[in-house]
Amino acid sequence: MPHVPSPALCDRDQSTTPASGLARADYRDITLYAPERGPCAVDVSDNTNLWGMPPAALHTLGDASAAAVTRYPSLYARELREELATYLMTDRSGMSLDERWVVTGCGSDDVLDSAIRAFTRPGDSLAYIDPTFPMIPVFARMNGVVPVPVPLASGLRLDAEAMIRTGARIIYLCSPNNPTGVTLAREQLEIVVRHAPGVVILDEAYAEFAGESFVDLLAHSDRLLVTRTMSKAFGLAGLRIGYAAGAPALVAEVEKSRGPYKVNALAERAALAALREDAGWVQHRVRQAQVVRARLTRELEAMGLAPLESSANFVLVPVPGAERLAERMRAVGVATRAFGGLPGVGDALRITVGPWEMMEAVLSALSTELSSAATGGLR
Ligand code: PMP
Repeated sequence: MPHVPSPALCDRDQSTTPASGLARADYRDITLYAPERGPCAVDVSDNTNLWGMPPAALHTLGDASAAAVTRYPSLYARELREELATYLMTDRSGMSLDERWVVTGCGSDDVLDSAIRAFTRPGDSLAYIDPTFPMIPVFARMNGVVPVPVPLASGLRLDAEAMIRTGARIIYLCSPNNPTGVTLAREQLEIVVRHAPGVVILDEAYAEFAGESFVDLLAHSDRLLVTRTMSKAFGLAGLRIGYAAGAPALVAEVEKSRGPYKVNALAERAALAALREDAGWVQHRVRQAQVVRARLTRELEAMGLAPLESSANFVLVPVPGAERLAERMRAVGVATRAFGGLPGVGDALRITVGPWEMMEAVLSALSTELSSAATGGLR
């Protein structure tokens, strides 16, 4: 007998149920990450590798057969975790790690979100250095967690005592920090790791550019989770591969909260190729980024600006009216990332370092727009 829906259900006009009434109350203030923007001739806004992607990874993608995507990828990317553990051991950590110490995800965004969910209940708090990666308070709120900003001390230094005093279930730190580019002091980090009441997340998305990593602190703490990504030095942002290292018991909880199949099959193959065969390419690009970073900093200083000393692949330069300035630069084909009123910094532009021709275009647009502002053209 055919199923006949009840008149009450048929008559119900879906449009009379406003979607806002269905949303979680604590989701109302969450906005999407950034407005969709069109492509820009010179885009130095997102801290990706502007020299492109590593050759073995590219070759693997070109070679991918349909068979690789007909079936599901590996559940928890075990092979990739093994390779990442080896990479972390060789990346100055001095640690002895294996795949049990590593969890992967769809970008480190996914790993951070999963970690927050794994170690908090709704209503708990997450303390984070301010300013830092803008997604952190958003991920906290997405999980019903209260974000607690803790201002950096003068000189944009980490105030370990202030972080610990929050009593937060999670303390989030980032070194080199985004958007300042400044590396946190080891001594202060050690204090946080030793005395934190809950989990400490140390985001090292830009560690390769700093020539310094704090992964070795894992030897002294079973509550530290160090997150990393293949989106920056490895040039694979579009493939969305992030990971974290931590004590196996901690990592196992993040894995549960993350769920299966989060790294897609093609991304896993390309990432494996990059880790096994592209180390030389990555090191070369990192060295180039460091050289360009120093040169860009000098050029900005020569323009009378005071860029922060960066250990990452970007430079933050304080400049009043940065948001309006960035709009004007975008109109002439140069996309930077603008911040308004950053604590301890003020308005600032963040410029990703890349091939020098790109930097010349950025400097030229910046200097034109600054002179136009000086003569009253920028309002
Ligand atoms: N952490 C920091 C500090 C970042 O700047 C970013 C991206 N801009 C991420 C994490 C996320 O990177 P992804 O998801 O591409 O790994």
